[in-house]
Amino acid sequence: MEQAPSVKDLAKDGEQEVLSYESSQEELDSLADSALASQDQDEYVRPKRLDDFIGQPLLRANLRIFIDAAKKQRRSLDHTLFYGNPGLGKTTLARIIAHEMDAQLVTTSGPVLERSGDLAAILTKLEPNDILFVDEIHRMPIAVEEILYPAMEDFHLDIVCGQGPAARTVTVDLVPFTLVGATTRMGLISSPLRGRFGILQHLEFYSPEELAQIVLRTARICNVQITKPAALEIGRRSRGTPRIANRFLRRVADFALVEGSVEVTLDITVSALAAMGVDEMGLDLMDRKILKVLLLNYNGGPVGLKTLAAASSEDVRTIEEIYEPYLIHSGFLKRTPRGRMATEKAHEHLAKLISSN
Ligand code: ADP
Repeated sequence: MEQAPSVKDLAKDGEQEVLSYESSQEELDSLADSALASQDQDEYVRPKRLDDFIGQPLLRANLRIFIDAAKKQRRSLDHTLFYGNPGLGKTTLARIIAHEMDAQLVTTSGPVLERSGDLAAILTKLEPNDILFVDEIHRMPIAVEEILYPAMEDFHLDIVCGQGPAARTVTVDLVPFTLVGATTRMGLISSPLRGRFGILQHLEFYSPEELAQIVLRTARICNVQITKPAALEIGRRSRGTPRIANRFLRRVADFALVEGSVEVTLDITVSALAAMGVDEMGLDLMDRKILKVLLLNYNGGPVGLKTLAAASSEDVRTIEEIYEPYLIHSGFLKRTPRGRMATEKAHEHLAKLISSN
């Protein structure tokens, strides 16, 4: 089996090649503008152009072609569905599409659209070629979903007026628009809805090097001095997720500030992350609790998801959507037809943690 690289190796590799991020002047100017306009750091560190979006090389290359083709033909982009874990960049990509297509972005989310009238009101107000972003699209009620079908396919709405035998259908024409959907649960998207998206793109977890580039970019925008090995260490421990990497950067910068250090160093990063309960494999308290329950209470499994959630005092959805995907991705957990199982790697990691305590 291939030996996992040590922190030192990664830091060295990173320094030699991948770790460089230079913001374009245009990007820095527009980021500075929005920084003044917004208190929310998340908002102003979001990349606005496809070229500033780090990682996901295949997705980025495909999207560039689809956007350029739509622009050349002066038509709206095909409806696009992004799926992947929380914090991987789905909302960011929806905004990038609007920016690249020079279109207005209208944002809503599945749980907000309770009745078909809620969606109809949004659709009828769209301007030609607007981007309608529906976050958590899998949480849209079926009645709302059904009015989307003709809207997506032929840009019209079929609205039923009245009830019973007196009911009649009124057809309302819509302007051409692009629906951009985002979901963490592709399996919950019905096939009629899925089939109406022309572009389906999966967001993968990011590599430590890609996350380090994101950390360096965010640090640069927020005027935080950070060494490359420190950025890489944050990248290694951020569960493959840019939102977590950016959050860790902020917290680690707090530690550096309080310690009176002008820059975030590897030492400060390692001790700050340890103080926050993030271990060297990037697992947090809840990840370890899940693995402990599996290993100590159920002898490694298999255990059903509901039992695992109850024994870890966590909600089923949170385990399924937040914790489990990364534990599976990093080889600590297996999903089998009989339930969840801890892997040998989980066993070794916990044994190491227990013996070092
Ligand atoms: P999602 O919608 O998938 O939950 P977001 O698009 O809101 O995730 O991204 C979370 C945060 O991570 C944003 O603040 C954004 O700045 C940052 N981010 C996500 N992907 C990237 C990326 N590829 N490059 C740089 N920053 C990113």
